[in-house]
Amino acid sequence: MKSYFFVGYLIMGAILIHRPPCACAFEIHGQYASVSYETENMLEAFNNRLFMGRLRYLLRAKRALTMEDEVISKMDVISKKVEQVLEMFPPHLHYSVSLCENMDRVKDKFIALHRLEWKRPGFYSPINDTMYLSVKNANLQVVAHEVGHVVVEKYFKVRPPVKVHELLAQYAEKHIGD
Ligand SMILES: [Zn+2]
Repeated sequence: MKSYFFVGYLIMGAILIHRPPCACAFEIHGQYASVSYETENMLEAFNNRLFMGRLRYLLRAKRALTMEDEVISKMDVISKKVEQVLEMFPPHLHYSVSLCENMDRVKDKFIALHRLEWKRPGFYSPINDTMYLSVKNANLQVVAHEVGHVVVEKYFKVRPPVKVHELLAQYAEKHIGD
């Protein structure tokens, strides 16, 4: 009987050792974004807030979609549309998204990465090529704004000044639904 426990410990040890360094339990991958999150409820909350408006017709056939497929499809549609709005098409555009429970968790991530306060529902950090979004506050405009930062960051060989970066992200946010 004891040897069973020993084998069990060995297997558990192997699983722990091979766990990725991210605390997130789930990760899904699309053409443009890899989205990680801690619980299914977080993905559902994010999906429910992401009304696509006039972009809805661009999503893949709704009937065949799981919630995971739907979120990935939305992120792909938003990413492609932001490229079109900005008329910037960086090659092989891809980035990570980390879903956060609320704005406080987003703030925690910003402080950890940039040592500064933050009061928005999301941000994109070029440090680890990751966008952080509060699932309770994100919407189409918030996501488009942050994708705008991703596109601008990857399009220019020399990073534009902060104000230009921000203006372009605001332009993407404003025109995402056109
Ligand atoms: Zn911004």
